[in-house]
Amino acid sequence: MSTPFPTASILGYPRIGGDRELKFALEKFWSHKASGEELAATAQGLRETRTRRLSSLGLTKPGSIPEDFSYYDQVLDLVCAFGATPERFAPEREVLAQSEPESPEALAAQFTIARGEGDRAALGLTKWFDSNYHYLVPEIGPDTVFEYLGAPRVAAAKTLGEAVRPVLVGPITFLLLSRAAEGAPEGFRPFDRLDDVLPAYLALVDELKAAGAQWVEFDEPALVSDRWSIPREEILAALRHAYTTLSKEAERPQYLVALSYGHAADAVDVLAETPVEAIHIDTVRGRWPEDEELSRWSESLRGRSLVIGAISGRNIWRADLGEAFEQLTRVQRRLGEGVHVSVSTSTSLQHVPHDVERETQLDPEIRSWLAFADQKVTESVTLARGLSEGKEAIARELSDNAAVLESRRRHPGVHREDIREKTAAVTDEDRHRAPYPERLAAQEKALGLPPLPTTTIGSFPQTSEIRQARAAHRRGELSTEDYVAAMKSEIEHVIRAQEEIGLDVLVHGEAERNDMVQYFAEHFEGFVTTVHGWVQSYGSRCTRPSILWGDVSRPEPVTVEWSGYAASLTDHAVKGMLTGPVTIMAWSFVREDIPWSEVGDQLGLVLRDEIRDLENAGVGVIQVDEPAIRELLPLRSTEEDEYLRWSVGSFRLATGGAKSETSIHTHLCYSDFATVVDAIDRLDADVTSVEASRSKMAVLPAIAAHGFDRQIGPGVWDIHSPRVPSVEEISGLISRATDALDPRQVWVNPDCGLKTRGWEETTATLRNLVEAAHEARQASSTSSK
Ligand code: GLN
Ligand code: ZN
Repeated sequence: MSTPFPTASILGYPRIGGDRELKFALEKFWSHKASGEELAATAQGLRETRTRRLSSLGLTKPGSIPEDFSYYDQVLDLVCAFGATPERFAPEREVLAQSEPESPEALAAQFTIARGEGDRAALGLTKWFDSNYHYLVPEIGPDTVFEYLGAPRVAAAKTLGEAVRPVLVGPITFLLLSRAAEGAPEGFRPFDRLDDVLPAYLALVDELKAAGAQWVEFDEPALVSDRWSIPREEILAALRHAYTTLSKEAERPQYLVALSYGHAADAVDVLAETPVEAIHIDTVRGRWPEDEELSRWSESLRGRSLVIGAISGRNIWRADLGEAFEQLTRVQRRLGEGVHVSVSTSTSLQHVPHDVERETQLDPEIRSWLAFADQKVTESVTLARGLSEGKEAIARELSDNAAVLESRRRHPGVHREDIREKTAAVTDEDRHRAPYPERLAAQEKALGLPPLPTTTIGSFPQTSEIRQARAAHRRGELSTEDYVAAMKSEIEHVIRAQEEIGLDVLVHGEAERNDMVQYFAEHFEGFVTTVHGWVQSYGSRCTRPSILWGDVSRPEPVTVEWSGYAASLTDHAVKGMLTGPVTIMAWSFVREDIPWSEVGDQLGLVLRDEIRDLENAGVGVIQVDEPAIRELLPLRSTEEDEYLRWSVGSFRLATGGAKSETSIHTHLCYSDFATVVDAIDRLDADVTSVEASRSKMAVLPAIAAHGFDRQIGPGVWDIHSPRVPSVEEISGLISRATDALDPRQVWVNPDCGLKTRGWEETTATLRNLVEAAHEARQASSTSSK
């Protein structure tokens, strides 16, 4: 029999540091203000601090503390450890092979792969499952050489001692998340390189063992998703093969395989056929195992551990400990003596901030409902103590927890009858506008736009003056009057610049917004915002999600003063700018005590009111951004219909009251429109802008094939780069669009907002964009004569 997995644990912990120490250390290194040695010292300090902290919170058993620190990203860590770099990073691979893992040279090489250099593009960046974290996408080809080159994890395991459990992305997930390297033959699948990557894993595990690790964790979240092009049976067979192979060595650490981000009971059965010592399941986004499964596992997992991810790694709400404890005791009873039951988090805690105790500005009652990473560790430790010592041992914690949940349930802001009545009264009709042809005619009349109209996505450069004014106002150093005056003068500047450039539909520039979601969260009731609640988005980038805790209302109009002012300055159409319900939810921590469809409708209704007020202020074009609509797409395709029903429904509730002559735009950031083209069609916006320039308009065939009949603005300027595309380049992209679609459907705009760009490149590019659009109009009017 193996040693039981520690009864209390967590799958992973935030890596950025309570004060974002890692972010600042990275950025200093990148800007040559700190040496590689200094960066490595900060990293080691962070590892030690978190290990001490976790041990003081009660994770004291060998293997109970995850060692998942990463300088940039956990997937990149493996790319570097295995030398599985694409051809263009051959020099970096050489450096990784020649130098110590955390040496300044190795760190610099790793960051070059992560961030690109000159015309060598970085590895792609994409969402980690349905979270807001982004990982770097490995590029694997038939010739990629997997060779263990060393990893920071090893030295860390050595210095931190047996308490820590090194965490690795498992081989199945690693390969499923990879894309085929450039030049790979048609039909090549990185997944087929499993037998080549396993020896590299074995070499790494060997070193971890030598460093003293008693447990190693393999994260296999890919198993909970069915969105792979590879049949399930094949994936499960590979899973069986991988962990049988990895378990071959007699002298090895014990293994925990984690099935986080959803449920995958079939994968548990497969893993039970391999020698792994512990299996983790997610009972939060996944589900609690049924009795029948438990009785099966009581046999198949005999002598091993089932680790229950009962504490959410995704949200910031205190768990219902009473309910979780009851379920845990059921699991324990059904599994019987032979299987050890442990408590953990559903996913790594990398998606939540460090410590809610620091949010001293929050209303204490609301704060008492919240659990950030450290509070979640305590919850896990508490439940584990209950499991080992009996319910009486945690009686006080259970009753305190029940009191907190009760206070939340009873809070008047959590259930507002006036709001519930409104959402209950919503009819299907509220989600429908007049038929599109009717709207189109009304809008053509109202707006009188030329063919191939030009516009932007909303934000203009956020200069340091703007940021300073906002910060000074927040600190109370700039009066509201002076702040409003400063913003208005910026709006005027943005309007005049657009008039001068010759754009058709203008925007106010969004200078007053710190962030497209937080801005609305600060103005709606039902939200709070935090001061220290940062979570890593990717690399050194962090976001500070707002917390949606109560029923949502809009005490007063939010954007009307700014957009109305902008409209008053010009004869051009000005586009009002709102963030859609799904994106507000995707980029906040959302309450889970009521269905998301109810939250979506509450947001839909307040945005609907905002749209009406904008119309009344003379704003005839209104954009409702939904860049996140694809992010929340469930990992299981069976859940997709329900998701699309409420997400599309809430957007349509927001926009469904708009007059026919009001042109409703929406914007989505990404380019793989193909996966959501149907949902976008159902949004029923008049104009949809998408990112398209980097992929050279690869989205067009999907749009054309779908028979999308409304207007579309495929981006012609990659705003992620400061480069100024020429008129010819933009013309080329426009003609691709007008070739693939009916030219009357096409708008000309950048890929996304311009807030991260400077004024110089913005003006230069927009001039080129306008010129290219004018040329295209000219060409089509002469050719049609
Ligand atoms: N309107 C927003 C902007 O221009 C849209 C940003 C986004 O799509 N992420 O900044
Ligand atoms: Zn965008």
